[in-house]
Amino acid sequence: MKNKPILFIVIPCYNEEEVLEETTKQLKKNLKDLIKTKKISEKSKVMYVNDGSKDNTWNLIKKINKQEELFTGITLSRNRGHQNALLAGLMTAKNYADIIISMDADLQDDINAISEMIDKYLDGCDIVYGVRSARTKDTFFKKVTAEGFYKFMKFLGVDCIYNHADYRLTSKKVLEEFENFKEVNLFLRGMFPLIGFKSDIVYYERNERFAGESKYPLKKMLNFAWDGITSFSVKPLRFICSIGCLILFVSILIMIYSIFRKMTGNVVTGWTFLSISIWFIGGLQMISIGIIGEYIGKIYSETKARPKYIISEILLKEKD
Ligand code: UDP
Ligand code: MG
Repeated sequence: MKNKPILFIVIPCYNEEEVLEETTKQLKKNLKDLIKTKKISEKSKVMYVNDGSKDNTWNLIKKINKQEELFTGITLSRNRGHQNALLAGLMTAKNYADIIISMDADLQDDINAISEMIDKYLDGCDIVYGVRSARTKDTFFKKVTAEGFYKFMKFLGVDCIYNHADYRLTSKKVLEEFENFKEVNLFLRGMFPLIGFKSDIVYYERNERFAGESKYPLKKMLNFAWDGITSFSVKPLRFICSIGCLILFVSILIMIYSIFRKMTGNVVTGWTFLSISIWFIGGLQMISIGIIGEYIGKIYSETKARPKYIISEILLKEKD
């Protein structure tokens, strides 16, 4: 069993002045309990990441930091979006902590799951994914689109944890490897499964946001989903090639049909030639675009320069 780890809870905040005090109150109690039961080190902290808020969020974070020693913060020079803010927080926190949990400022992620996450870490897991057990509190629209999205990602061959957002525990070791992922289009929840290591899942029920409004309007959400798909799958490119082949096949049927019509009936002069040409050239062009797409897909994955492997243990001894 590992010794009392230092825990950092990283929370990105964008215009969250309405929720910060309550969040602080609840997390303080939670963290104090964990310290008291000797589960985590007394050096543990909550780290707020101010993502260029336009309201009073940063001042509030500074005030909380002065009053409570368990709370600290960093601020970004401008709004860079949830994923970037989260990354900034994780990369800073890993220099101070052994384990890092990321969650939202609005307490939608049940903070009682933290303790269970730490248990799994103590059992030897390096990543613990928080997965929502049900979406009873979501609107019908959100439920259908979100679950559809996870299924679609799976269909595209992306290794994504179903119904897992960004509530997760990672060890320092994982974040150190994560630093080698240089891509700029972030979709963190898809990137962590790429790292590997022993992982597990903790189920929790997601609450409603208790104050303030969602900082993820539909447009941002669609952009995020699109980023997820295009950063992790080249299947859409390959799809073009398949359609091209299908059209080429159809063009053969059209050819047979056109010749049959020409031989049996009176068709307008030039019709046979035109209809065959249109389908044949259409299919050929589609396949050509698909082939170019294949190469673009290759260039794309090369430019991301993801690590090709990660070694988790070495049995060799260092030479003296
Ligand atoms: N957030 C952020 N920068 C942004 C948008 C959101 O740091 O540009 C933070 C926000 O403060 C919250 C988390 O991301 O802590 C999730 O946002 P929200 O709760 O609004 O999303 P929802 O739960 O509605 O999907
Ligand atoms: Mg929320």
